[in-house]
Amino acid sequence: MEKRTDINTLGEFGLIEHLTKDVTTQHANTLLGIGDDAAVIEAGDKAMLISTDLLVEGIHFDLMYTPLKHLGYKAVVVNVSDIYAMNGVAEQITVSLAISNRFSVEALEELYKGIKLACKMYNVDLVGGDTTASPQGLTISITATGRAKKEDIVYRSGAKAGDIMCITGDLGAAYLGLQLLEREKEVYLAAPTAQPDLEEKKYLIERQLKPEAARDAIAYFKKKNIKPTSMIDISDGLASEVFHICKASKVGAFVEEAKIPIHPEAEEMALKFSLDPTMCALNGGEDYELLFTIDEKDLQEIRYMPSVYIIGEITDAKDGIKLHTSGGNIHDLKAQGWKHFDEEE
Ligand code: ADP
Ligand code: MG
Repeated sequence: MEKRTDINTLGEFGLIEHLTKDVTTQHANTLLGIGDDAAVIEAGDKAMLISTDLLVEGIHFDLMYTPLKHLGYKAVVVNVSDIYAMNGVAEQITVSLAISNRFSVEALEELYKGIKLACKMYNVDLVGGDTTASPQGLTISITATGRAKKEDIVYRSGAKAGDIMCITGDLGAAYLGLQLLEREKEVYLAAPTAQPDLEEKKYLIERQLKPEAARDAIAYFKKKNIKPTSMIDISDGLASEVFHICKASKVGAFVEEAKIPIHPEAEEMALKFSLDPTMCALNGGEDYELLFTIDEKDLQEIRYMPSVYIIGEITDAKDGIKLHTSGGNIHDLKAQGWKHFDEEE
């Protein structure tokens, strides 16, 4: 009998690794292929950065509570965020759509309003794409390109023991916004005349439906002539990203629970849902802040950075990846991340 391995045995990252472990590159200008937020291609005096992301209806978004304009905006932002995670400037995107006949021209115009607004906000050009029919639902794939000087590019792999770990904004709010929208959806389905009460929780909803990429952070690094030693964008929760940095850099790390920034609205909502706010920050997703490490010598300049939080330190690999809890204990940090494959079960 032919062997059949369930994809869930590997998980998302294990699957990518399994499928691509024997992939080699043939061109000298492919400076970096698989394994970071964007690929790096040498092109003249600058290098080009390329990153792609796929959003699938029913997995990444639910149109019951996601306005199409917001969806278009977010689809661009999540890609631009990956270019920033390399310390690059995003310049172009392509947009590919698979659409079922459930969608009207007017609905797709809304989607494009959001896409165009994000292009304007983030200064990127929409330069192409592809459009096809889909038997069901909506799928959006966006590819972003950007550029950076070769010597300015920041990889996941550059962190070293003693470096300071920082993030550009608060965490967990997007995940709690999602929980809130899901709850309101259930309430609505049970009693369609009920009016959702979301106004009070504007911050959480906005973090989920209309995230922004950390453009100001990249501008600050440039202005102050600081180059982080490593960087990644926080799409799958802080814990998962700390693991990626540690794995790529062959280092350990500790995160101080008390230093993880959590917005008061997020904290309050977590408690209402009987969730641990720290767990929401560590394992929720879609915050799209940047996690970066800096050499100790740059600490002074980083302290003046608007909206920056110092949350921990890089250690030797043998010290492992730890969470120093507010209660004074030391635990192994656990990364759950998103497991999309579970949803078919
Ligand atoms: P991000 O969360 O920053 O978008 P991912 O975790 O999706 O990054 O991907 C990690 C790395 O694996 C990236 O370099 C990405 O380009 C690569 N990758 C993801 N899926 C595939 C695939 N199906 N084939 C080849 N490379 C992939
Ligand atoms: Mg990324």
